[in-house]
Amino acid sequence: LHPWRFHFLCPLPFISVIPLAERDMKTVHVVIFSEKVRNQDVGTWLSRYCEVFNGTEVVDIDGIKTGTRRFQVRLRRRDGALEHLPSYIQLGAFRGTVFYPGQPKECRKCGNCNATDHSSLQCSIPLKCNLCSSTKHKFKDCPQAYANQVKLSTTPLFHE
Ligand SMILES: [Zn+2]
Ligand SMILES: [Zn+2]
Repeated sequence: LHPWRFHFLCPLPFISVIPLAERDMKTVHVVIFSEKVRNQDVGTWLSRYCEVFNGTEVVDIDGIKTGTRRFQVRLRRRDGALEHLPSYIQLGAFRGTVFYPGQPKECRKCGNCNATDHSSLQCSIPLKCNLCSSTKHKFKDCPQAYANQVKLSTTPLFHE
């Protein structure tokens, strides 16, 4: 084989390949204009769809919270294709949007069942918990919600 022929047959070593794992890492911004929504709960919600490494609340130059939370995540893959995150988040009465580089454009979906032809207010199937998808309770009663975990851990063990 002549050298040029070898090059033609083996193009791969000359292309810089980004490792798969690196392309799956995303910086995700979640915008919810309410301080009542805990970052911990947003993290729990995200971990249904991807691996969450850390999350911080974004503050402006005066140190004031902007309603934006930033998370480092790794997207999952199914059959080699990236599994993307929903573009919208709903936790109880609070709604927000989810952004990250490489996110596909998506129509607004029902926050309850993911259908695109109605909103969660018109949804006909039983309301699911926004955090864990259970139909047995709503978000405010969810055992995975941060406020409920704090409540559990501060319940006194002994009564006087
Ligand atoms: Zn629905
Ligand atoms: Zn729940």
